[in-house]
Formats: sequence, C-alpha cells, structure tokens
Amino acid sequence: MKYLSVLILIFLTLPSSAQAEDDVEITQIKDNLHMLVSPMGGNVAISSGEDGIFIIDDQLTERSKIIDNAIKTIRNKDVKFILNTHYHFDHTGGNEYFGNKDAVIVAHDNVRNRLSTKQFITYFKREMPPMPKAGLPVVTFTNDMTFHFNNDDIRVIHLPTAHTDGDSAAYFTKENVIVAGDTIFNNMYPFIDDEHGGSIKGILAAHDVLLNLANDQTVIVPGHGALMSKSDLVAYRQILQSITDNIESAIKEGKTLEQIIAMQPTKEFDKIVDKGIIPSKDFVTLIYKELSR
Ligand SMILES: [Zn+2]
Repeated sequence: MKYLSVLILIFLTLPSSAQAEDDVEITQIKDNLHMLVSPMGGNVAISSGEDGIFIIDDQLTERSKIIDNAIKTIRNKDVKFILNTHYHFDHTGGNEYFGNKDAVIVAHDNVRNRLSTKQFITYFKREMPPMPKAGLPVVTFTNDMTFHFNNDDIRVIHLPTAHTDGDSAAYFTKENVIVAGDTIFNNMYPFIDDEHGGSIKGILAAHDVLLNLANDQTVIVPGHGALMSKSDLVAYRQILQSITDNIESAIKEGKTLEQIIAMQPTKEFDKIVDKGIIPSKDFVTLIYKELSR
C-alpha cells in the first residue's frame, strides 16, 4: 500500500512538473530530432529513438532538472550520451547532473582540459570552477568521431580556433541536420572567446566547413537563436566577413581602434544582426584585437 502511494505520487508529480516550466520551448526538427530552447542558456539538440536519448549540450546548472523533465516529455528515458560542443557554462552546466545519472559525456580534448581546471571569462566576469568528476567528458577526441545511434550516422567534427579552442559540430548525415554550437549566433554578433583560443578567422573557416556539408534541405541548429537554412548561414557568414574586411583594411591604413569604432564598420548590418548580448562595438573591438596582433 505504501509502495502504491509512492508510485502514484511519482506519477502525479512527474508530468505536471515538466509541464509547469512553460519557459522551455521544444521544437521538432525531424522525426528523431528536437531543439530545446530555455532562457539564458544555449540551444540543446535532442536525438530520441529506439536506441535512447542523445543530447548535444545541456544548458545551465540551475536548470538541469527542468531540462531533464522537458526531455522526458519527448521520450521518458534517461539521457544516454551527451556531446559538449564547447566548454562554456551555458552549454555544459547540466554535465554533473546527467553524469550522475550515468550519461556518457563526450567532447573534444580541449573541452575536458578546460573543464578540469578553473576558467575565467573576463568579458562576462565569470569564473567557472573545475567541473566535478561526474561532469567531465569521459570520451574525448582530437579531430572527429562518429556516433551510430537512432538509425543515423552522426559525424562530430572539430572546428579549430573558432568560438573557443575546443568547438565541434555534429552532422546528422541521414536526417540532414547540423548542430553548430556557438560557431553560430543566429542574427547576433558572436561572442568570440579569444582568451581561450577563439578567433574570427576560425569562425569564418568553421562556417566554410559547415557550408560544405550542407545542401538546400539542411537544417542548421545554431548555439543561440532560431533554426537556420544553408542560405541563412551564407548570409550570416557574409556579414561577418564584410565587417572583418572593413576592419582589416582600416588597420592597414593605420587607423586606431577609436577611429575604427567611430567609422561604424558594422553600421549597414546592425539592423539585421544586432539583437544579441554582444553590442556591435564590442564585436568590432574583438576583431580589432585579433587582427592587429
Ligand atoms: Zn559559448
């Protein structure tokens, strides 16, 4: 009798707590693939099918249980695999929670290295303490690897010196979906973590790699912002390239950072792009720092 009441309690509380979090938005991309969007954190891609649940990135630490409950509304199973696209706290925050529930965490070598020690992101004045062991990636790779899961072959490709030094993207070859991590901030100027190996040149090179994989039917999941098509990424890349070219030629003319900011090298794009957390002036400063080194 006692067991029965405990069971009923679980049955009554689980679905309602999942539904209560209406600030979590789940979009179906393909039969087996969903995107989860939750405030302040990165996008989460969820592959669910007969082999179980595989997620790409796991959001903020304080939202781990909410994310878990939301995933269970798609398929009521524990997460089997997690890929971290990079080390940032808004993409790896759920690692410890899911690792303690036996999820296998996979990432590029540099993600494990960064998570193993204290990191400080000056731009956000944010310290990331070393990740407890349960949240560290247990499988790491250097260049690429492939998951064979839920009837797809999922290629994971390292994109060097892009948003950080440990980025990777996942390409679901059968479902034709690319999960790009923070190498793409859709409709936003990107944060580039130059203290930890990121660079605008690497971001542009990463976009070339992704565009080479994509065709007109490909759906692209950015690290932040709405789903994209290949032509959306072509347009976004062109904007970042134009701004980079503007700044590069101004540096060659001997202009200072103050003079370049006064020139407003992003002006014609601000209406389309300037919707994120990085103001255009800060984006210009980041590029200037890199190109004038
Ligand atoms: Zn990031």
